[in-house]
Amino acid sequence: MKLILLGAPGSGKGTQAAYISDKYDLPHISTGDLFRENIKNKTPLGLKVKEVMDTGNLCPDDLTVELVKDRLSNPDCNKGYLLDGFPRDLAQASALDEFAAPDKVINLVVDLAKIEHRITGRRNCSKCKNSFHIDFIGETKVCPDCGGELVVRKDDNPETVKERLEVYESRTVPLINYYAKQGKLIDINGDQSIEKVFEEIVKALEL
Ligand code: AMP
Repeated sequence: MKLILLGAPGSGKGTQAAYISDKYDLPHISTGDLFRENIKNKTPLGLKVKEVMDTGNLCPDDLTVELVKDRLSNPDCNKGYLLDGFPRDLAQASALDEFAAPDKVINLVVDLAKIEHRITGRRNCSKCKNSFHIDFIGETKVCPDCGGELVVRKDDNPETVKERLEVYESRTVPLINYYAKQGKLIDINGDQSIEKVFEEIVKALEL
């Protein structure tokens, strides 16, 4: 199964991806995580994208498409993939259609007015990559899942979130229509508990 998770920043893509990847044994591929890993390791790619990521803009399409193409050529993707954060615009979507078109696209629909609260209270595990909200875990620095260190992403601040939302509206929202026209879009209400959102995703995938 080849799946895409679509949704605004902070809509819960990463959280749901961990559950879906586990249930369907699909590799969870987050382009944001791949870029962050490159930045952490100071690779040539990381050095190229650091500044643009810090401002909340999109990394160049050619670099992003190459990164994904390369990752999808790994043997663990023979059975499919779960893409989180890719594609982010129409150019990336049509590139993906050329080499590994998705079967289904899950669109997490959330109230954009709540996004800033969702993102600025987010804490990410530097080890297992899961994310949590301080409303549920408080101000702890220890990951409740694996004991790793919880950190705040550099781009999870109010100014950058505003920019990321504008980029989402102008560049990513057109993908909703793109995949709806292909008959692949599944809208899921993301303003529910994590368990309920996951339950609805599973139900929709198994229809
Ligand atoms: P995310 O972790 O998905 O919120 O992504 C964090 C940042 O990584 C984005 O704000 C972009 O700067 C960059 N990024 C992630 N995925 C993509 C993509 N598909 N295309 C371009 N830039 C991306």
